[in-house]
Amino acid sequence: MIVRLLALSLFLLPLEAQQAAPGTRIDYDIAIPALNDPATRIPVSVFEGVKPGPSLLLTCGVHGFEFVPILAAQRLLNEIDPKKLSGRVVLVRLAHVPAFERRSIFYNPYDGKNLNRVFLGSATGTQSERIAFALTQLIDQSSIHIDLHGGDGTETLDNFVGTYGGKLAERQFETSLAMARAFGLPRMVDYRYDELTRPYSCNRQAVATGKPTILVEIGQQGRSDASDVDLAVRGVLNVLKSQKMLLGNPAPAKPAQRFSGTAGLNFSKSGIWYPNVKTGAAVRKGDTLGTVKDLLGGELEKLIAPEDGIVLYMSAAPPANSGEAAITIARPQQAQKK
Ligand SMILES: [Zn+2]
Repeated sequence: MIVRLLALSLFLLPLEAQQAAPGTRIDYDIAIPALNDPATRIPVSVFEGVKPGPSLLLTCGVHGFEFVPILAAQRLLNEIDPKKLSGRVVLVRLAHVPAFERRSIFYNPYDGKNLNRVFLGSATGTQSERIAFALTQLIDQSSIHIDLHGGDGTETLDNFVGTYGGKLAERQFETSLAMARAFGLPRMVDYRYDELTRPYSCNRQAVATGKPTILVEIGQQGRSDASDVDLAVRGVLNVLKSQKMLLGNPAPAKPAQRFSGTAGLNFSKSGIWYPNVKTGAAVRKGDTLGTVKDLLGGELEKLIAPEDGIVLYMSAAPPANSGEAAITIARPQQAQKK
């Protein structure tokens, strides 16, 4: 018990990313102490450059069943040379170890919470909240941030990058946009934040503390295709170049198709999900996107498109759970309502 209290009181102290000597890398685990659920850790690597520059925080594996970011982090250990770096890269190699180990989609296996919905977290909260608390402190110490995700175990997804603007992020929007362009994905979603309502996602926590941030989504259905891992690694290196942290220019990419935010559609019934559409489909307001049926085949609800757009990502597996995300539609930029 005393050991546990000591670990917790240490955890309550401000947490600084460990310092590496210039031109070197240091690898360590942030210890998340046990409370009413088990202890865990966050494996981190800090690359300390040889010249001054931005401090980039790259968070991988906030969802532990999204494997492209986790494998990209492993590759980046060998791809980022601190001797050629300006500034610092703090690489969170696997933010959500328990979800990865227990193969848990969306949710933490102990508290049932979605780590990407509990920021800024709490030192004395549940396991997800304690992990978010530690990550929040790394966000505080960074100057720019990338959160790498992909389609979770049951989600299909078209690769995209998200920028963060709006009233609360006007100052940092230009940098967020430059980072997103440099990443080089074919679709870009501009998220606006005119007001923030807690709890936050990891990106929104960065917005709330004034940091330029991008969301990257690559891969789908918990797969780990080598081509997707390549895309993620190249994108991160492109961002480092765009921010003058590495020499050279980002690889040229075709201008991305731009979208003005997204509209999410949740299940309001639990049952078996029969989607009518696939990711990438153009849909019109009022279209039936799929049906939820009960276990005798009776219809429980139809999911209707709330507006025109493109299906960006969606639940593609049979389980439908009331309150969970079913389909997310991206709004083509020309259709933006002023
Ligand atoms: Zn995710």
